[in-house]
Amino acid sequence: MDDGHTGGCVCGAIRFETSGEPLRVTICHCTWCQRRTGTAFGTEVVFETHQVRFTGAAASRYRHVSDESGRWLDVAFCPTCGSNLGFTLEAAPGLRTLPAGIFDDPAWIRADRHTFRHVWLRSRRDWSDLSDTVEKYERHFRS
Ligand SMILES: [Zn+2]
Ligand SMILES: [Zn+2]
Repeated sequence: MDDGHTGGCVCGAIRFETSGEPLRVTICHCTWCQRRTGTAFGTEVVFETHQVRFTGAAASRYRHVSDESGRWLDVAFCPTCGSNLGFTLEAAPGLRTLPAGIFDDPAWIRADRHTFRHVWLRSRRDWSDLSDTVEKYERHFRS
C-alpha cells in the first residue's frame, strides 16, 4: 500500500515525506491565516508529528502568539524561498500541519476521502465560497 507522500518548498532546499493518512484537513478562515498565506484561508493537512520527516536544509521558525487564546503557533518556512511549511501549535501537542499545496502531487488529498473542517467562518471572505457538504464552524471546533 502506497500511503507515503512527498513534498517540499519552492526552491527545493527543504523536502519532506509523510507516512499514513492525515487526521483531517483543516481549512482556516481566521484573519491570521489570511495574512500569513496572503489569501482567503490556510489549508492545513493535519498529521501526528511522527508521521512527517523533513530532509534537506533546516526550516526557519516564527512564533506567533494568538491575541485571542494567548497560545503559540510555530510557523515553519524556508529561509531561502519563503515557502510556508506548516506549523505546530500549543493547543494540539503532538500534531503538525503541512499546507496542502506543498505536496508534489496534492491530488491524493480528496474531499471524498478525508475529513475537511472549515473553521473561523466568522472572518470568512464573502468571495471564498464553501460547498454545502463540508463541516463548518463559526469559531474553532475546539472552542
Ligand atoms: Zn525553499
Ligand atoms: Zn487560521
